[in-house]
Amino acid sequence: MSDQPGAGAPGFATLAIHAGAAPDPSTGARVTPIYQTTSFVFNDADHAAALFGLEAFGNIYTRIMNPTQAVLESRVAALEGGTAALAVASGHAAQFLAFHTLLEPGDEFVAGRQLYGGSVNQFNHSFKKFNWNVSWADSMEPESFARALTPRTKAIFCESIANPGGIVVDLPAVAAVAKKAGVPLIVDNTLATPYLCRPKEHGADIVVHSLTKFMGGHGNSIGGVLVDCGTYDWLGSKHRYRTLVDPNPSYNGMKLAETFGNFAFAIAARVLGLRDLGPAIAPMNAFLILTGIETLPLRMARHCENAQAVAEHLARHPKVAWVNYAGLPKDASYAVGKRICPAGVGSVFTFGLKGGYEAGVKLVAGLKLFSHLANIGDTRSLVIHPASTTHRQLTDEQRKAAGAGPDVVRLSIGLEAKADIIADLDQALGQ
Ligand SMILES: *Cc1c(COP(=O)(O)O)cnc(C)c1O
Repeated sequence: MSDQPGAGAPGFATLAIHAGAAPDPSTGARVTPIYQTTSFVFNDADHAAALFGLEAFGNIYTRIMNPTQAVLESRVAALEGGTAALAVASGHAAQFLAFHTLLEPGDEFVAGRQLYGGSVNQFNHSFKKFNWNVSWADSMEPESFARALTPRTKAIFCESIANPGGIVVDLPAVAAVAKKAGVPLIVDNTLATPYLCRPKEHGADIVVHSLTKFMGGHGNSIGGVLVDCGTYDWLGSKHRYRTLVDPNPSYNGMKLAETFGNFAFAIAARVLGLRDLGPAIAPMNAFLILTGIETLPLRMARHCENAQAVAEHLARHPKVAWVNYAGLPKDASYAVGKRICPAGVGSVFTFGLKGGYEAGVKLVAGLKLFSHLANIGDTRSLVIHPASTTHRQLTDEQRKAAGAGPDVVRLSIGLEAKADIIADLDQALGQ
């Protein structure tokens, strides 16, 4: 997708503002309204029957679909180049519904182990209750995904830019493993956003996001989305994805993959997963996230510019032992980053303090502009010292394996003036 105007297809910045939206047909309101209603009136009994039977598209009940949510879905689908999207209550809900649509009890999936900590918990513990079983690969080594495959593997999962270490995953190489195994590749694109990376262009079949982070971008709403890239051939697959190919008893024996073709995955996630499990996004949150997305290209460019300057500054600082940021030429992810995320590698990264655990605690206490909290992707600069907070319960060994050793500090660089962010770090490091 070009970011230049006039090249035929609309540029990314144009889609970020307009895709999926039009003036409200009943009032002329230019901004998409917050449709704060639980339900929608049917025209007549036939209309109601057609909606319930999936013979007509339309709003029934906000747990399943709502006009504010629908604009958000069209917008994200357009930005990711997908055929359809489903917005839900959180990033975790998007992952849950993606796997619920693909897996049966006893099925397996392979995931890169460098993931958001909450995803590691979700996969290791809560998913086990459904007998969905994860095997772990190394996101830095695409071949390790191939080694973890078994005949019951039904999907591969990784993050494009892996949280929190700022690793950039070689998506085409992981996609080649998925293709060879005949399973869909799911990419969590939260840290990159489609402005920096469109996983579909690198071979992904499904994209998930925590909209809570850079997409919404202002730290005010929890939300998630899954995007159907329309690329995986459910009917031609050697695996039987039962939710998609079997006759569905709650829709008169309809076979979703046959009826809905290249957006069947998004439909199934909505009309089965969201309908029955229920993690709907509130219209208000969909509205706030839509507003955030309008400035996504501007914000991401500035996030990357600020993060690059901060990472370069920290790399030169005498009290800093190391910096893991893919924008630094010495970084292990630098070359892959240039290929997968040429416009920038985001603004979340970790660094290590020579003074170890004590220095980490002291730094966080001394920062004034940075907020100490467990989020990323806000306009504000954020900091956390994982060893004394999110990873406190783990053993030293477990902390090291998770990239949360005693000296590690994670930053999410915001949109404040670069010089102020750097000055705050300097004063806190100098104490
Ligand atoms: C935050 C996050 C999630 C989970 O999203 P929620 O909206 O908090 O449920 C998943 N993946 C990544 C990379 C995240 O940063």
